[in-house]
Amino acid sequence: MIPYGKQSISEEDIRAVVEVLRSDWITQGPTIEKFEKAIAEYCGVNYAVAVANATAALHIACMALDLGSGDVLWTSPNTFLASANCARYCGADVDFVDIDLQTYNMSTDELEVKLATAKKLKKLPKIVIPVHFSGQSCEMEKIKTLAVKYGFKIVEDASHAIGGKYLQKPVGSCKFSDMTVFSFHPVKIITTGEGGIVTTNDKKLFERLSRLRSHGMTREQTLMHEPSHGPWYYEQIELGYNYRITDIQAALGLSQFQRIDQFVANRQEIAHRYDQAFSSLPITIPFQHRDTYSSYHLYVIRLKLDRIKASHAQVFAELRRMGIGVNLHYIPVYRQPYYRPFGYNSKNFPNAEGYYKDAISLPMYASLTKEDQNRVIDAVETAINIK
Ligand SMILES: *Cc1c(COP(=O)(O)O)cnc(C)c1O
Repeated sequence: MIPYGKQSISEEDIRAVVEVLRSDWITQGPTIEKFEKAIAEYCGVNYAVAVANATAALHIACMALDLGSGDVLWTSPNTFLASANCARYCGADVDFVDIDLQTYNMSTDELEVKLATAKKLKKLPKIVIPVHFSGQSCEMEKIKTLAVKYGFKIVEDASHAIGGKYLQKPVGSCKFSDMTVFSFHPVKIITTGEGGIVTTNDKKLFERLSRLRSHGMTREQTLMHEPSHGPWYYEQIELGYNYRITDIQAALGLSQFQRIDQFVANRQEIAHRYDQAFSSLPITIPFQHRDTYSSYHLYVIRLKLDRIKASHAQVFAELRRMGIGVNLHYIPVYRQPYYRPFGYNSKNFPNAEGYYKDAISLPMYASLTKEDQNRVIDAVETAINIK
């Protein structure tokens, strides 16, 4: 089976991990800070806090903005569960903004309309999480303008998008947001096994994130409630978690990170080959907004079902049968049994619903060979012609 995504591990990566294993620090050591510094520098952002996974990153990002019971967080329905769950961890409510028909990102027009309504109802969101679906940035400049007008905070879920650009600047620069989150799960652009990071330009948020990652503890005298009792002394000044990443993982991440631009260039090339191969088929290829440079975590096609005899499910099953590990990103989050009792109406999300009926994610990863890609292309042609 050709998977839809997978990691690329080099001998160099393995050496970097072994080196840390032989060192004094396998966690809470210097490699984590090196990894954070490297990511921050690349993104052109002041601070980065590495954590156990992007789900933890989203959770502490929401906590750092004091999200709590009675608050509302808005995100895209076309995302992984974690972009919504982070609000629930904080006791806040979740609402969704329908997606754009071209980019499959949260629709900025829809966001604007929904905000105007929410203002009248006095139910404005405290945080909006735009998700850079498939690695293509949302229209952050416009979202930032709306944030200023309506007074919400922005956490970019850039789990798909490290190595991508928006208006010539790296995703993660936080030029138009309070914080950005990346994931280092093996299917994402670079991996640490499990891992995630939050970037920010705000020193206060950085300090809070660092504390929340490690039990809410501090050794900072100015933050302590009592004078220090001695060199052993620390205080827990709020409730945090153990969301730390290890130096072993950071070493893998740092080593992977040396090849990030190559990884993204490979993904771009693969995307262009797919684009060309599908140009005359009854398939919609991924639209690219001129302000963005996508890291292509995913390559999603949409079937023009009115021109294909087979159904979506049949094409999907046929591709799997032929050994192509296709997938579907994503089931709209509000459809999940956990979220259903909150009373979302699928009629409010016609674009996410339409997308779910005909989208298919094809294999896309930096080490996908031309031969394997040709197999995928041939299989797609065959699958859409079955009756
Ligand atoms: C992968 C992913 C996450 C969660 O990442 P983990 O590192 O697995 O916790 C969150 N949001 C999106 C959009 C993702 O794709």
